Amino acid sequence: MKKPERPFKNIQEFRKHMLRFNFGLFFKKNLKLFPCVECGGQGRIYDPNDAPDIIEGNKMRNRIKCPICEGERTMSPKSFRFEYAVWIQEWKDKMVKYKKFQLILKSAKKKIIAAGLTRAEKKAIGL
Ligand SMILES: [Zn+2]
Repeated sequence: MKKPERPFKNIQEFRKHMLRFNFGLFFKKNLKLFPCVECGGQGRIYDPNDAPDIIEGNKMRNRIKCPICEGERTMSPKSFRFEYAVWIQEWKDKMVKYKKFQLILKSAKKKIIAAGLTRAEKKAIGL
């Protein structure tokens, strides 16, 4: 089991991630503006009723006004903080599972050591 990585260091990093497909200056100039997480601050999303083309992908795809921000491109700081908190909570839940797993692993290793395996035997099972 791999240790789950924290998705974002802080809310500013989350903001940057949400703006990764947004190359305009609108959000770069206004650090207090938070992008809508549905459309990434673009105000438009791909039309879910217009499937991507097999060859062209999203290139020629219809775009519609974002239903969440209604084309406004922004989110209130409160809503944005909430979205960020959801990501962090998901990571925390994974960490709880990870820590439980580590405890089980630790006790299993102790039992193996107590069982008095030889060096070669331990090596064979990856200890
Ligand atoms: Zn939006």
